[in-house]
Amino acid sequence: MVEAVFPNPFRTDGSWFKGNLHTHSIYSDGVLGPYQLSFLYRASGYDFLFLTDHNVLVDVSGEAKRFEDFLLLPGEEINTGRSEVGTSYHLVALNITEEIKPDMDPQSVIDKTKRQGGEVIIAHPYWSSLTVNDISKLNGYLGIEIYNTTCQFSIGKGYSTTHWDDLLVRGIKTLGFAVDDAHWHFNPYRPVDACYAWVMVKAEELSVDSIMESLRSGLFYSSNGPQILDMEVNEDSVHVKTSPVRSITFIANSSMGRRFTSLNGPLREAEYTMTGRETYIRVEVEDYTGRMAWSNPIILEE
Ligand SMILES: [Zn+2]
Ligand SMILES: [Zn+2]
Repeated sequence: MVEAVFPNPFRTDGSWFKGNLHTHSIYSDGVLGPYQLSFLYRASGYDFLFLTDHNVLVDVSGEAKRFEDFLLLPGEEINTGRSEVGTSYHLVALNITEEIKPDMDPQSVIDKTKRQGGEVIIAHPYWSSLTVNDISKLNGYLGIEIYNTTCQFSIGKGYSTTHWDDLLVRGIKTLGFAVDDAHWHFNPYRPVDACYAWVMVKAEELSVDSIMESLRSGLFYSSNGPQILDMEVNEDSVHVKTSPVRSITFIANSSMGRRFTSLNGPLREAEYTMTGRETYIRVEVEDYTGRMAWSNPIILEE
């Protein structure tokens, strides 16, 4: 008997909160201060923002109280270790209280973050040239960045969804996060790398504990454009409803899965019937401007 394991944010009580989990400020190589970042993200419809400067933990406690309806949360991006090809890992540590030094190996950074009650997301695997071996030897991280705006706008390496599938097909349960990694760098060939991607989190309330709990549980989906409106997971089918899109894709292990592409007019829903051989299924949708949204994986266990 196969059981579908999916913390379904669309069938969980609470409210939706829009957030960005990866942001740089003047305290590393960003150009805006914490207040300006909060102001601009709030004005763009976001509810929360993690400040994750390079190798420094910025005290956001003062700024965090500026807006009653917006959360500014602490984090740090730690450059550490060596990948198979000699590059360093970038690890985004969310909600930590003590600065983590970059002179540790990736596993120690993850362990130290978890001991502080935080969570680690492995940043931009494609941009970092991380391989699936580099990632799969680590334990205890929450997930990977599957989309990173600044990596896309700067060198076209924003999408790490192949890394995600390579982990999932190995049975490694990994959540996928779309983030901006905003620095507010731009030029005529590079749009602003902020307020472009996000996670939609279903949480009880807009508080650090509630947001962290929902992220940890996988009660969110990622997007840089379209909306996923509902997912219904049954014994042998998955039904999804979305904002108007060009394609809805059910991605699964090896050659399983199916893509539905609209030939006349937009799609708003699609259903996938399982063959019984899927080990995971995730939903990916693309709108008419090429923007995308991603569900977290439904894991199918014996
Ligand atoms: Zn980075
Ligand atoms: Zn970064």
